[in-house]
Amino acid sequence: MDDQGQIQVNRGFRIEMSSAIGPYKGGLRFHPSVNLGILKFLAFEQVFKNALTTLPMGGGKGGSDFNPKGKSDMEVMRFCQSFMAELFRHIGPDTDVPAGDIGVGAREIGYLFGMYKKLRNEFTGVLTGKSLNWGGSLIRPEATGYGSVYFAAEMLATKGQTLEGKTCLVSGSGNVAQHTLEKLIELGAKPVTCSDSSGYIFDPEGIDRDKLAFLMTLKNVRRGRVKEFAEKFPTAAYTPVDPAEEFNPLWNHKADCAFPSATQNEINAVDAKHLVDNGIIMVCEGANMPTVPAGIDIFIEHRLLYGPGKAANAGGVSVSGLEMTQNSMRLAWTREEVDNRLRMIMKSIHHTCLAAAEQYGTPGNYMNGANIAGFVKVVDAMLDQGVV
Ligand code: NDP
Repeated sequence: MDDQGQIQVNRGFRIEMSSAIGPYKGGLRFHPSVNLGILKFLAFEQVFKNALTTLPMGGGKGGSDFNPKGKSDMEVMRFCQSFMAELFRHIGPDTDVPAGDIGVGAREIGYLFGMYKKLRNEFTGVLTGKSLNWGGSLIRPEATGYGSVYFAAEMLATKGQTLEGKTCLVSGSGNVAQHTLEKLIELGAKPVTCSDSSGYIFDPEGIDRDKLAFLMTLKNVRRGRVKEFAEKFPTAAYTPVDPAEEFNPLWNHKADCAFPSATQNEINAVDAKHLVDNGIIMVCEGANMPTVPAGIDIFIEHRLLYGPGKAANAGGVSVSGLEMTQNSMRLAWTREEVDNRLRMIMKSIHHTCLAAAEQYGTPGNYMNGANIAGFVKVVDAMLDQGVV
């Protein structure tokens, strides 16, 4: 019910794709573009991503075409409660453990958890991405972005390079993009872009800690648009982006590395060509499937270091897995401990991808490596468990 007392109707989904190696696990997305097809591809990808993490998690995804943008806290709360009133019968800490995704952050997870607890009368780790003082894990908000940068550092290391001094293009300005920017700055890289669905910022002087702090308040507290970034910092230029255009100008700047961290299909073949022509040596996908297949072909043909989302952005679900472990043990690890485990997991995923790519005759092809290694693990588990 909206604040005017009118009933609004949205459609919700939960895809339980595979529980071969653990409970279904994957995020919830609230965005007007959500439909069954998008959630099915995300759940399918999630199965193999989760298999790569080394943790016991199956794959799922869910969400709704509800748009939290412009809604009051009370409207968001009432929607989360309605959504959970149906979802609660399908999920549980040993059955299916949803998390956040686009449009679902700490606020939404809180409202969803509160309703689950009320309906079930139990306090369990049924959702991840919870706030710290009631079962969340340190580093969970940072995990996808940090993990993506750790993966990027591993890829560069295979060429004897580091992120220090590298100019980086980052898209998005949400959870993944913000923590990608944070870790890039910490490692001495120079990120020069960020975006939202209306347009993008290009700041040739680089987005530093102070500018990032402004962006985080703008997005997380005031829930504003990136356009305001250019109004605040004179070195930055704002360009509106129309998704119907032939290409996205964000990807048409001279740089070393690209971190697509907004949404699916945000790099088309023309964008991919622009990245190659501008001297990009590495593309590391913080978002899920941000590059269309023809774009991936261009990266591979030009021998870029290409880290596919199911490997590069697996840090988020990995720390969700660590949150489940801490909830089961009813204890909380330190920030340092979780970050170290995240770093080790990203290292291990990188190694697994490279080893599988080599074993199956496509050395250096992280996409083949990730797909094959994830697939083999799930299929072996299914065969072990018989026809059930
Ligand atoms: P957020 O909702 O926090 O941020 C999403 C960002 O992408 C916003 O800047 C948003 O702009 C922009 N965006 C969304 N849709 C579009 C669109 N159609 N066109 C252009 N820009 C768009 O989400 P997250 O940062 O959590 O997620 C980003 C990506 O990372 C998604 O692909 C998600 O599936 C993936 N991912 C997230 C994980 C996590 O832990 N959060 C884990 C693994 C993957 P606007 O504000 O205008 O909507």
